[in-house]
Amino acid sequence: MPPPASSTTVSASPPDFLGEDTLDLAQAEATVAAYKELLADLGRRGLAGKAEVSVKLSAVGRALPDNGEKIALENAREICRAARNAGTTVTLDMEDHTTTESTLGILRELRKDFPETGAVLQAMLHRTEADCRALAHEGSRVRLCKGAYHEPETVAFRDRLDVDKSYVRCLKVLLGGQGYPMIASHDPRMIQIASSLASRYGRRAGTYEFQMLYGIRPEEQKRPAAAGETVRVYIPYGRGVVRLPHAPDGRAPAEPHVLPPLPDLEEVGSHDHSHHRRRRDGRDVALRARPGGWTRRPAHGGGEASRARP
Ligand SMILES: Cc1cc2nc3c(=O)[nH]c(=O)nc-3n(C[C@H](O)[C@H](O)[C@H](O)COP(=O)(O)OP(=O)(O)OC[C@H]3O[C@@H](n4cnc5c(N)ncnc54)[C@H](O)[C@@H]3O)c2cc1C
Repeated sequence: MPPPASSTTVSASPPDFLGEDTLDLAQAEATVAAYKELLADLGRRGLAGKAEVSVKLSAVGRALPDNGEKIALENAREICRAARNAGTTVTLDMEDHTTTESTLGILRELRKDFPETGAVLQAMLHRTEADCRALAHEGSRVRLCKGAYHEPETVAFRDRLDVDKSYVRCLKVLLGGQGYPMIASHDPRMIQIASSLASRYGRRAGTYEFQMLYGIRPEEQKRPAAAGETVRVYIPYGRGVVRLPHAPDGRAPAEPHVLPPLPDLEEVGSHDHSHHRRRRDGRDVALRARPGGWTRRPAHGGGEASRARP
């Protein structure tokens, strides 16, 4: 699968089960159905070349008591098939460290039939530089992020500086390798270092991409896009709670977090987020898709809903 042609694209999580562990089979199946609906919609709207989907294996059944991994693999396979039929790809989100081995195992299985399936690696984990080496081969799409989970020091770097140093080591492996690195960070230093390394390793724009969360530092998102880089915007949506990242030591991020209302998919595809009204909310935000537009509401009550369109 070639890298996306446009400079700004959308990556989406499933509707309805955002950030939640799936606790029964019906819920896992409903999540798969939601993905298939989303992918068919992306295909119908001609957006599949610009948008891919991200899947959390816990949302498609991994935590189910009987055969959870097998169920998650089959469900993820179904989503991969729907993505390919629509003309796009899937990336498996990475969850906490107790699931890393399982996620990479399921990735290996999926890649037998769908080699375009993307992986996520978390620089905060000690193991990740080695995982980068194993996955830096041709055709391998790897998203590198710092890691959003509060992990024990037996498996993870807890100091921000150590996480950043690991991120740079991993960037060197991925950008110096043969795969397609997806650099997921809002940290201007990491973005700048990634750009310099890409030049050092002779990478052309379009042989890697930057990824950022929708609504976080939009100016930082536009800057590399304006310089001709590929920037993908990740949009969590559905009913559930968006857990915005904490610092590696478990502290909540220092800055207040503002998520603008979600746009319609066509608006995302048109690369113009600037007209959306911005509002302040708590760190945990629930987003809901419904016919005719998008709504959002505070995760802990409040119940206020707003249309995304101005
Ligand atoms: C596209 C994408 C996909 C991701 N997928 C995963 C995944 O599968 N698994 C996983 O564990 N983690 C995932 N993450 C989260 C990631 O691991 C980090 O927790 C998160 O990106 C913050 O790290 P940072 O690199 O942006 O740098 P940081 O050093 O944490 O942040 C740098 C600066 O960016 C700004 N910033 C960062 N986050 C926010 C925020 N939420 N609100 C406001 N400002 C902010 C702040 O100004 C901060 O100073 C993903 C992130 C992105 C962008």
